Amino acid sequence: MEVIIIPTKSRSEFIDITAEVERIVSKSKTNGVCTIFCPHTTAGLTINENADPDVVSDIQNLLNKLVPYTGNYKHSEGNSGAHIKASLMGSSLNVLIENGKLVLGTWQGIYFCEFDGPRSRQVYVDVFANR
Ligand code: ZN
Repeated sequence: MEVIIIPTKSRSEFIDITAEVERIVSKSKTNGVCTIFCPHTTAGLTINENADPDVVSDIQNLLNKLVPYTGNYKHSEGNSGAHIKASLMGSSLNVLIENGKLVLGTWQGIYFCEFDGPRSRQVYVDVFANR
């Protein structure tokens, strides 16, 4: 398993980690699958367009409308909005690998989704060869 360290800079931020995951996967020179796991409860992972930055901006804006940071939440730490957004995004991704390369669509990128930054975050990546 390898770890990607992500120093986030703001409260809510989508960070493209495709190149870092690709670097880890390329060492394997294999076919199989790559699991990417986020071990945090107020951050998540998603795959979406990495060509037009307005797409992730629109996703963040809508998430903030759907799940405001302040609201009628019970959790005393005061960051329930971030916990809910993390669950909406999910904490793990699987991406196929062919000849040591991620099999992503033309416009797809892998995003780390910060919802309670800024913090130092980690993402775990492991490669499972199948043949
Ligand atoms: Zn909390």
